[in-house]
Amino acid sequence: MSKYDIIVLGSGPGGYVTAIRASQLGFKTAIIEKESLGGVCLNWGCIPTKALLKSAEVFDYLKHAEDYGLSLEKADKDFSKVIKRSRDVAAGMSKGVQFLMKKNKIDVIEGFGKLKSGKKVAVTDKDDKTKEYQADNIIVATGARSRELPNLKQDGKKVIGYREAMSLEKQPESMIVVGSGAIGVEFAHFYNAMGTEVTVVEFLPNVVPLEDEEISKQFERSMKKAGIKVMTNSSVESVDTSGKKVKAKVKTKKGEETLEADIVLSAVGIKTNIENIGLEDLKIKTDKDKIVVDDFYKTNVDGIYAIGDVVHGPALAHVASAEGILCVEKIKGMDVEPLDYGNIPGCTYATPEIASVGMTEKQAKEAGYELKVGKFPFSASGKAKAAGKSEGFVKVIFDAKYGEWLGCHMIGAGVTDMIAEAVLGRKLETTGHEVLKAVHPHPTMSEAVMEAVAAAYDEVIHI
Ligand SMILES: Cc1cc2nc3c(=O)[nH]c(=O)nc-3n(C[C@H](O)[C@H](O)[C@H](O)COP(=O)(O)OP(=O)(O)OC[C@H]3O[C@@H](n4cnc5c(N)ncnc54)[C@H](O)[C@@H]3O)c2cc1C
Repeated sequence: MSKYDIIVLGSGPGGYVTAIRASQLGFKTAIIEKESLGGVCLNWGCIPTKALLKSAEVFDYLKHAEDYGLSLEKADKDFSKVIKRSRDVAAGMSKGVQFLMKKNKIDVIEGFGKLKSGKKVAVTDKDDKTKEYQADNIIVATGARSRELPNLKQDGKKVIGYREAMSLEKQPESMIVVGSGAIGVEFAHFYNAMGTEVTVVEFLPNVVPLEDEEISKQFERSMKKAGIKVMTNSSVESVDTSGKKVKAKVKTKKGEETLEADIVLSAVGIKTNIENIGLEDLKIKTDKDKIVVDDFYKTNVDGIYAIGDVVHGPALAHVASAEGILCVEKIKGMDVEPLDYGNIPGCTYATPEIASVGMTEKQAKEAGYELKVGKFPFSASGKAKAAGKSEGFVKVIFDAKYGEWLGCHMIGAGVTDMIAEAVLGRKLETTGHEVLKAVHPHPTMSEAVMEAVAAAYDEVIHI
């Protein structure tokens, strides 16, 4: 039986990054994967969706060429080529992980892994042959899949999840997107930009409900302006797939409504892959669909750890990677601090983009802080105006007493690349005054952060 220092089960951004860090630290490492290296993120999540959204953005530019003084006979698209480009990008990324595994001398074991007692993993390959491997430490990073609601069973054709949504052969004429979290609105935006008639149904009062309320409101306005129909305070009660079109019964505040569309996309969250991987046999504790771990990702069973989407915390690629790195550094005996879950950025890559970190204004108020809040609209930014992207704003929230940067919320073009400033600032316990005195380059969208901070302290220049 092959023996390792560390075996990682699952090769998403949690698993493969963990394996690389483990190898860097001198551990003999193996990774087990049943599908493609890179997990959901590279194959079915972060990366292929961003490839689709890039096509949507370019198409949008083409459609609005005249706004930039350019002309084009007719902006057109080939849906299957757009999908193919996204799948090719994903395949390329997965190959990249293959290269990284080789470079870091990590053994890749193909097949379905199941934990066994004695710190072993049994791996069944595609020919149904099973082999056992042993390790001093096993890290579970099996991730998650699209969550199914009982009244919204996915048949993969008319009622679909995110995998089908990014690999459809034919563009639907109409689509109902259930759920307005990041995944739902990114697809809503993509399909709307491609010319599909899109309706988003959200159970809660606001779209992108985890965001600061002002961001949600602005985003809803942008969705409507782009032609997406938005139904908040509404829930899909049942779907009828017997006809050519899907009929969805939607409960709204005003009563029941029946919507018709070619396809219903269910984007109501995720379900972790924790079944049939040996957790019960080993008596590893789970809670509300997640594996229970301590601050350094150790389960209740010695030598078994879990990271990424399978544990509590935001289900995001960068979180999975950070958890995995921390987990192996702790195993190595390094002097490490637990992850600060209050300083995790979250991004949504629709048009406009959304990026945020820290507390919303409501959360900060509820936590009892006295606040200094500043906002700067991109309509007052020279760079945004020049780019023809003046929608949105940056909002910053500070504690009035000690100047702590409590939260930063942005909506606009390219803000997902701007949020790192707030993440780093908060990590370094930067005050508003220091952000103000850090000269920002002109003209950039990032000046809006400096100006929003200035607005919080009544020193704003450009509004
Ligand atoms: C459409 C979509 C868009 C997203 N966009 C973003 C984004 O922009 N930014 C962001 O941060 N996050 C995004 N996410 C979330 C992100 O993809 C996940 O948080 C991330 O992939 C979780 O990483 P992970 O390593 O925990 O698990 P996963 O990426 O799910 O990887 C788990 C791997 O384990 C394998 N596996 C499972 N069980 C076994 C087994 N028994 N044996 C062997 N292998 C097994 C699976 O095949 C898979 O490859 C998106 C998700 C979706 C669905």
